[in-house]
Amino acid sequence: MLDEDLRAQLKSYLERLRRSVVLTGLRSEGSDSSDLEELLSQIAATSDLVTAEVSSEAPEGWPENPAFLPRRPSFAIQAAGETSRVNFAGLPLGHEFTSLVLALLQVGGHPPRVSDEVLERVDALEGPLHFETYYSQSCQVCPDVVQALNLLAARNPAISHVAIDGATFASEVEEREILAVPSVWLNGERFTEGRVDLDDILARLETSVETRTPKRDRDRFDMLIVGGGPAGAAAAVYAARKGLTTGIVTDRFGGQLLDTLGVDNFISVLHTEGPQLASALEAHVADYEVEVIKRESAKRLIPGDEISIELASGETLRARSVVLAPGASWRNMDVRGESEYRTRGVTYCPHCDGPLFKDKRVAVVGGGNSGAEAAIDLSGIASHVTLLEFLDDLKADEVLRQRLESLPNVDVITSARTTEVVGDGKRVTGLNYEDRTTGTQNSLETSGVFVQIGLLPNTDWLEDTVERTSHGEIVVGLDGRTNVPGVYAAGDATTTPYKQIIIAAGEGAKAALGAFDYLIRKPSDEAN
Ligand code: FAD
Repeated sequence: MLDEDLRAQLKSYLERLRRSVVLTGLRSEGSDSSDLEELLSQIAATSDLVTAEVSSEAPEGWPENPAFLPRRPSFAIQAAGETSRVNFAGLPLGHEFTSLVLALLQVGGHPPRVSDEVLERVDALEGPLHFETYYSQSCQVCPDVVQALNLLAARNPAISHVAIDGATFASEVEEREILAVPSVWLNGERFTEGRVDLDDILARLETSVETRTPKRDRDRFDMLIVGGGPAGAAAAVYAARKGLTTGIVTDRFGGQLLDTLGVDNFISVLHTEGPQLASALEAHVADYEVEVIKRESAKRLIPGDEISIELASGETLRARSVVLAPGASWRNMDVRGESEYRTRGVTYCPHCDGPLFKDKRVAVVGGGNSGAEAAIDLSGIASHVTLLEFLDDLKADEVLRQRLESLPNVDVITSARTTEVVGDGKRVTGLNYEDRTTGTQNSLETSGVFVQIGLLPNTDWLEDTVERTSHGEIVVGLDGRTNVPGVYAAGDATTTPYKQIIIAAGEGAKAALGAFDYLIRKPSDEAN
């Protein structure tokens, strides 16, 4: 099950264990069970501090939470003498293998890499809190969520967590009507869907006003950056290195990197994965004195000698200069049913949610490279894929078009204008489209609609304060300046061509230097 390299790596990680760890497996009939026994015994063989046992009945000490009991195969990871609170249902392979390794370390007393302040917040949570997370092995954002919840469970005795492989427990996924992962349930109720980090989870769990109110070091900055993608992160590092009091406000850190599988063109890094690069950006920013304000969105910019940024929470931040780096988001189809059935069949991430549509009929909307790649990817999972393209021809590269043609379970429909996502109130059941050449209305039966029609800049909130093109891109000059004094912009949200990570990062650095140049030349600043 684990090859020699993986076992060697695991062995070196498990040298960090500080106390004994017991793995208790619950066997099921069938081949998965022998896989479970093999996995657990291979782990146990890598460290003297780990023991493994697999049985047919839940042994004593198995979590009291009944939600954990019926799942087979599954296993618990517990510190010797403690109740089991960290569990995996199904085998955590693929992207989740890292979560398994971390869980062993977390339960084995290896200190987690989070601040004391965060640990205090974890310790203060009151239970019982029983989390269940459904993941898919190909989902890149799922491990972050699984690892955050495992950390809570390993640390706080009032919390338990089971990470459930959606493909192994497909009937549960069906029953709970889960159509997007990661899907987190708390005490039997839906808690979150999609990517959340430890901070987000803590913020949602903390109920007292005192703990919810953010502790700001300051609300006035020399430079305030909006957006925590590559452009915003680079701008923050450059601003802080100039000795400026710097803040960065972002609803999530990492931007589109969090939705990106492999990155092979970030110069000097041969290969990395999007979420990994996002964490590296965040760590780089954290290395400087930058006030990072996460889970907040800028809702209004008020120009002036001192620029104000109003946040969705109602708070107002003030700054002598601003760098706008809000990036771009998946474009919506803007048709009836789309928002109603989002995460209930309408999805924008084939890598994450594809496995939930195993042996079902799905549709992909958009015939560019991402749409064609999604259809090819999904053809190996779904029973049938229909690719709909608005134009008369696919825009995807020739090689992708040829591959599509060769796939027996993929149909391509061109000149198709999607008009409606249809559902039964709970989930998607079909999609309506118009044949643009004949004007006829058509329907197709589908359980999933994968929308792949490009990206739009996240700039609506700027309204007419900053000059934007008809596509919503912020118009920038060579040094990133906008038409508003003191306001600079960078990255995918701007008119700079070629939307790429390295370009966004470079433009972010340039905008910060441009804004710095503005600040040192600003006469009125002598008083500040
Ligand atoms: P983003 O990455 O979009 O980040 C913007 C951030 O700002 C986000 O975190 C967003 O939540 C936040 N934000 C938005 N509005 C607000 C607001 N009002 N208030 C607060 N915060 C806000 N490029 C490559 O070079 N190589 C690749 O292999 C590659 N693959 C890709 C694969 C996919 C699937 C996608 C979607 C993109 C890919 N790209 C790739 C493109 C690359 O990810 C982008 O060019 C880059 O991330 C742009 O960086 P950015 O900082 O401008 O914006």
